[in-house]
Amino acid sequence: MITFVTFMHIKATPLQHINESLFREKGVEVWLKRDDLTHPEISGNKWRKLKYNLVEAKEEGQSTLLTFGGPYSNHIHAVAAAGRLFGFKTIGIIRGEPHAEPSETLKDAAQNGMRILFMDRPHYRLKHEAECIESLHVQLGDFFMIPEGGTNIFALQGCIEMINEIKTDYDYVCCGCGTGGTLAGIVTGLYGRKKAIGFSSLKGKDTLTESVTELVRDFTDMTFDNWQITFDYHCGGYAKVNEDLINFIKAFKQNHLTQLEPIYTGKMMYGLYDMIAKDHFPRGTRIIAIHTGGLQGLRGYKTEFGNSAI
Ligand SMILES: *Cc1c(COP(=O)(O)O)cnc(C)c1O
Repeated sequence: MITFVTFMHIKATPLQHINESLFREKGVEVWLKRDDLTHPEISGNKWRKLKYNLVEAKEEGQSTLLTFGGPYSNHIHAVAAAGRLFGFKTIGIIRGEPHAEPSETLKDAAQNGMRILFMDRPHYRLKHEAECIESLHVQLGDFFMIPEGGTNIFALQGCIEMINEIKTDYDYVCCGCGTGGTLAGIVTGLYGRKKAIGFSSLKGKDTLTESVTELVRDFTDMTFDNWQITFDYHCGGYAKVNEDLINFIKAFKQNHLTQLEPIYTGKMMYGLYDMIAKDHFPRGTRIIAIHTGGLQGLRGYKTEFGNSAI
């Protein structure tokens, strides 16, 4: 078992320069922070967001972590692995009904000792409400609850560390957004300096801006206005893809030897390229895009569409 001390000393993830003629032409520089390389099993922002949840759970003397997610969830995958590595029991409450053939994500989670329970969608929608948590406690006993996606106040601290690792000069930080926890951590880490852009993977009414604002305020007692969320690149909504996006991801892999996934990092980079092409950034701008990981989730895509599909 890895100790918490070892855990505290993960190496800063590297910055990869993205060499593109488009960027040279527009006079901007793009660096990809390879947070997909944090850890083989607990990758990217899910690792960043978990770290201080684990510390908090240990401090509270809790031995069981309970969390929520869909059947392909990077967060579920990360919590199960973290449980095995750091000595917690884990319970995953999975949205919807069990499938005849469980996803690779859930197979890994079960192998890591996670107890998998399914919750139908109407109940799942109310999962974070006190009444639901209470009834889970009645059924399952004591646990430390980590919300869906790992987003809570403890998650921000780990994302602040990610920002503090960046020693080079830059103007913007970009990330993909689901719950907005990572962006909130980035905004908190920037503390009013530089700028941040979140690329929403979800379409529909913007509840993200408010969530991010609230998380940042809970943590800092401040609000900042050096950040924005774009909803122009969700490609049809959460977990939806289109041909342009898939072709972009394939070309990116060929040109830069780096795999993106279609849910978050692919949409972020696709959007960033488009914004650069449309002269959103003045010449001389230096941009750090966060590769938030999540590549384990690609296996579901490959099962459905074949190994060379992405
Ligand atoms: C979960 C996830 C995100 C979204 O993070 P939030 O903090 O929920 O906004 C982005 N990228 C990847 C790869 C993820 O797994």
